[in-house]
Amino acid sequence: MTDVTVEPGSILGVLGGGQLGAMFAVAARRLGYRIAVWDQDPDAPAHRQSDHSFTAAFSDLPTREHFARLVRAVTFEWENVPADLCEWLEERHRVRPSSSVLRIIQDRVKQKQFLHSNDLPVVPFVAIGAPDQLTEAVKQIGIPALCKTATFGYDGKGQWPIRQDSSVDEVARTLRTIERPAPRWILEQLIEFECELSVLVVRGTNGECRTYPVVENRHEQGILRMTLAPATVSVQVAARASDLARQAVVLLQGIGVFCVELFHTADDRLFINEIAPRPHNSGHYTLDACRVSQFEQQVRAVCGAPLGEVRQWSPAAMVNLIGAEAQAVASGQAFKGLLSLPGAVLHLYGKKVVRPGRKMGHVTFMAETSEAAAEPAHRLIARLAALSAVPPA
Ligand code: ATP
Ligand code: MG
Repeated sequence: MTDVTVEPGSILGVLGGGQLGAMFAVAARRLGYRIAVWDQDPDAPAHRQSDHSFTAAFSDLPTREHFARLVRAVTFEWENVPADLCEWLEERHRVRPSSSVLRIIQDRVKQKQFLHSNDLPVVPFVAIGAPDQLTEAVKQIGIPALCKTATFGYDGKGQWPIRQDSSVDEVARTLRTIERPAPRWILEQLIEFECELSVLVVRGTNGECRTYPVVENRHEQGILRMTLAPATVSVQVAARASDLARQAVVLLQGIGVFCVELFHTADDRLFINEIAPRPHNSGHYTLDACRVSQFEQQVRAVCGAPLGEVRQWSPAAMVNLIGAEAQAVASGQAFKGLLSLPGAVLHLYGKKVVRPGRKMGHVTFMAETSEAAAEPAHRLIARLAALSAVPPA
């Protein structure tokens, strides 16, 4: 496709309608674009921010035609949308990131092989094509190890740690029960890290690359709980992490917003864990603490417009509201209390169905340093535990 800028007034298509798609739509509409959201779930948050909503299955051919006739450029809000649909759309429109980048990223094995073959540091790994190969893979990788589904994993779902010999058969049995056509897995060395970092890299049509400050992520039960922006690591570690992230995106020739997740170990090594080809939960703080948010950058990149500044106005700490926590926060005194906290910005995604582990909203705290912002963030987490134990009125 040509490099002509897609101008405001045009309709941008977004595949997937979760909170990332919704925040993309809000940023795009502020810049004067119209939005077509395609997500099978009619309650998906992005539908409420869209000018055109599609809820058919992604395989529905008439909907593909209709969607393609309507939009001028396309992006996706998560990596598990069908790459063949992106490829089909690509013959007609600009799709950013491209389907070839998507194909590498949506398969953990291909992604790790890509990084490894380009000399970027990743933890030792082995591909597993069938459950019977697990025992041999464990021999190669050693224990502890982490078995992950090669495709369709998110928020730590589809992962099985192996911490002792006796778990190998147990995990192999679990893998045999998976009914998806031709499932595959990856076995990684389970490493002990000091902290998890992530870096948002924005790359434009002309190859220009901009990198947001390195942030630090804390997980609970495989789900992101808190992000500190910037990370509390040394300037040197941040610079190395930032360099690795930029290299990965340049090597991919990715155009759009990418989030590179890394592990930093006590002996000062960095490993790339994975790359998300889209805005990321750890970049939500950019909405409130940066001049241009990750979602606006996605709009700019998909439209072939100049990239925005990645400057951070204020250090921040972001806390996810997970499952019933959002209901607790939205009700009565808790809601008023949270809105009255200086330096706190509340985002609720308006999801109707609450499920344990589902991301329902987030709160960004801003202060003089990210550690200072983390203090009220920790207090909120402590209160959430108490609040969400009480059923909403
Ligand atoms: P998300 O959607 O949160 O990014 P995911 O399901 O795509 O998660 P990963 O990011 O690979 O999966 O793993 C989730 C978390 O599990 C990581 O953030 C990290 O805490 C832990 N983890 C993953 N791989 C390893 C590893 N090799 N060694 C140690 N911990 C790991
Ligand atoms: Mg991850």
